[in-house]
Amino acid sequence: MAEIISGKILASKIKQEVKQEIKQLGIKPYFAIVQIGNNPASNTYVRNKMKDCDECGIESYLYHYGEGISQHALEVFLEELSISKDFHAVMLQLPIPNHLDMQEAINEINFKKDVDGLTTINNGLLATGQNGFIPCTAAGCMEMIRSTGIDIAGKNAVVIGRSNIVGKPVAIQLLKENATVTICHSHTIRLKEICQKADILIVAVGKKNFVTADMIKPGAVVIDVGINVQENGKLCGDVDFNEAKEVAGYITPVPGGVGLMTRAMLMKNILEATKCQLIKDI
Ligand code: NDP
Repeated sequence: MAEIISGKILASKIKQEVKQEIKQLGIKPYFAIVQIGNNPASNTYVRNKMKDCDECGIESYLYHYGEGISQHALEVFLEELSISKDFHAVMLQLPIPNHLDMQEAINEINFKKDVDGLTTINNGLLATGQNGFIPCTAAGCMEMIRSTGIDIAGKNAVVIGRSNIVGKPVAIQLLKENATVTICHSHTIRLKEICQKADILIVAVGKKNFVTADMIKPGAVVIDVGINVQENGKLCGDVDFNEAKEVAGYITPVPGGVGLMTRAMLMKNILEATKCQLIKDI
């Protein structure tokens, strides 16, 4: 029976540490969130982020624009926030409407304030092994793996999903920690066989029960990133949790897993951005 990696316990510890460090820092971090439109899930995510900020002693401000905002207006606003001395950290809540170019917009955020780690500069820093902001979900996955105490070096790690937000940054970090990494996607052949060899399995697909118990190597660390809404309105991950926990060595639950860690890592990144800017004006 697998040990459950509790996002609740880990995230609460990280937020406590952030709160303590902010107290010692003597100044409050200021964080700007830009939201476009009224996606119900985004409304919840933004509310939760602002609640976390409150808990940690971070001043958060929401700038809410209508669906019709132009690419130019969005870029100008993000650039203004990036230049402003009023904010240490800036993020664009995703998703944004289809008529907008997400990457172009995000790249207007100064990479030193890019606490979501999604600018091309931060992507490049991660890919080349340099210090920068790592996307929060990917950083959270790594904290959860490390919390098991297993030695990542030399392990077979399989990442299902290759998005810029989750799959790729998780894979790059695992590689940096000397795992042997396989990245799978919708064109992958013999996925089941590949997964069966994984000592560490990260699943970021977005499909309920995508990974079943027979795909898991006994004793493996299974990190379930997926968030799916079931017919009854309840959330579940991509892994068939009840069956998988009988085979895995460690497993994350949904809810109560990676989602909470994503929020905690954002708080950590905001603190880091503030500290960097105190040392060196940008
Ligand atoms: P994307 O839709 O961007 O990526 C999904 C990935 O799954 C793609 O790389 C896709 O492959 C791959 N995939 C789809 N079908 C298959 C298949 N049959 N076999 C193998 N691979 C497949 O999603 P995200 O990465 O943004 O998110 C993934 C999940 O994680 C979602 O449920 C999302 O809600 C959740 N999420 C959770 C977060 C959290 O905090 N817990 C944060 C961010 C996301 P291809 O590239 O070939 O299309």
